[in-house]
Amino acid sequence: MARYIFVTGGVVSSLGKGLSSASLAYLLKSQGYKVRLRKMDPYLNVDPGTMSPFQHGEVFVTDDGAETDLDLGHYERFTNISSKQSDNITTGRIYSDVIKKERKGGYLGKTVQVIPHITNRIKEFIKKDITNEDFVICEIGGTVGDIESLPFVEAIRQFSNEHGKSKTLFIHLTFVPFLKSSDEIKTKPTQHSVKELRSIGIQPDIIICRSQQSIPLDQRKKISLFCNVPIDNVIETVDVRTIYEAPISFFNQKLDKQVLKYFKLKSKKSANLSPWKKITNIVLNTKKIVDIAIIGKYVNLKDAYKSLDEALIHGGINNKVKVNLIRIESDNLNKSEINKKLKNVSGLLIPGGFGKRGTEGKISAIKYAREKKLPFLGICFGMQMAIVEFARNKLKIKKAGSSELDKKCYPVVGLINEWDKNGKIIKGTDKNLGGTMRLGLYEAKLRNNSAINRIYKSKTINERHRHRYEVNSNLKNKFEEKGLIFSGMSPDNKLPEIIELENHPWFIGVQFHPEFKSRPLSPHPLFSSFIKAAKNHK
Ligand code: GLN
Repeated sequence: MARYIFVTGGVVSSLGKGLSSASLAYLLKSQGYKVRLRKMDPYLNVDPGTMSPFQHGEVFVTDDGAETDLDLGHYERFTNISSKQSDNITTGRIYSDVIKKERKGGYLGKTVQVIPHITNRIKEFIKKDITNEDFVICEIGGTVGDIESLPFVEAIRQFSNEHGKSKTLFIHLTFVPFLKSSDEIKTKPTQHSVKELRSIGIQPDIIICRSQQSIPLDQRKKISLFCNVPIDNVIETVDVRTIYEAPISFFNQKLDKQVLKYFKLKSKKSANLSPWKKITNIVLNTKKIVDIAIIGKYVNLKDAYKSLDEALIHGGINNKVKVNLIRIESDNLNKSEINKKLKNVSGLLIPGGFGKRGTEGKISAIKYAREKKLPFLGICFGMQMAIVEFARNKLKIKKAGSSELDKKCYPVVGLINEWDKNGKIIKGTDKNLGGTMRLGLYEAKLRNNSAINRIYKSKTINERHRHRYEVNSNLKNKFEEKGLIFSGMSPDNKLPEIIELENHPWFIGVQFHPEFKSRPLSPHPLFSSFIKAAKNHK
């Protein structure tokens, strides 16, 4: 049986549970163990697909098409292990499964209750789809003490009771604040958080203390004493200079060593930290800066485009430049503002998006990039807008648009049921408009000798999708005559996957989200190439 490591958090949120779990997973994996990471989210949405990224951060998409919490992105980036649908569960999903079963009479007349029915379903999820993994690291979202996370905490308590301490380990991550006025590190919030955890039946085995500065031995002893945890298992995590330092920092604090010791295991080989050291060094010492403008909806939440920001940084690391992201709010952007802002940048990126707000500004920006030969990368919605821009300004289809935004437009982007094989537009009925999303990994064939073919060095690729609308391939020849090439198509040749401009140093739009597959230790070729072009711009 696999060994299960449960990671809870206390005191405040955003302490870096995801990063801690991902770093631990990397360390265990690099010592020869097979690891799986899972996330349990206490909200009532069935999955985060319907949640605004501006509230909850980006929706991360897996190979198998699950719309998941952004922490799964951290997991993938740090461990290079692709997550699956079964690696993320929410309270909403658990309840909806249980209620569905109840409606079908699946509980044989019993009263259906949180304990045992909800907790049983959670325990099923914890074990589901696990084969020969050595470790399963399960992160519980939220903060201990919240009403919402209680069923999860209760379920992991039961799980540990059923499978024994030799197969389960509890890690609790807390905050250890430093009070400037008294020049002191305070352990009381940690003590209270552990007290809270113990009151619902869980004694942590390891406490990770997030702190702005190193915690003196005396304070660690205090935490050990009051929280009933051996001193060696009170691990500090001081703010790192870059997230890529996290695995190194946890290794230095012996987190992996204590975990292995707890399970009476030895490392099969020594942890390989050199790739992290290498990229930390590049990130901290790179002087050259490349400015990339991103036009999107930014309501202050920096995690709204987490994977994208990361992928750009990876591209920068690969080119030994620092990528400076210039975030431009797409609302109310006028032409002169756009021109002014884009004049001083080396690349333009239009990310994925939904809805009409801010689209005209994006289209004007794309026009600028096309005409002024500014490197441009359009992702999903960004590619769709590039098609609209080109259709309006080069093909002179004045009413060109996306039917997502304007039902009366000429849909150069739309649901595929809006046109027939001859390019004749069939207006979708309300029913038809509820097309489903294309989610997860899809193959694309790349055209020989195209820019995209040179970038990927491959004829076929597989990338992750998350969209409902498609570019109208009936107009392919018209676009190509004017120099916009459909250089990547779905295997059946029906759906345009990639567009690129001839006679432009770097202008590419992709219908998928390459950012979900970029990893710091293996940067995505598209982002590396984009940043390289930006580096050479002007
Ligand atoms: N809104 C567009 C669609 O559904 C693009 C989605 C995206 O950018 N992920 O097709």
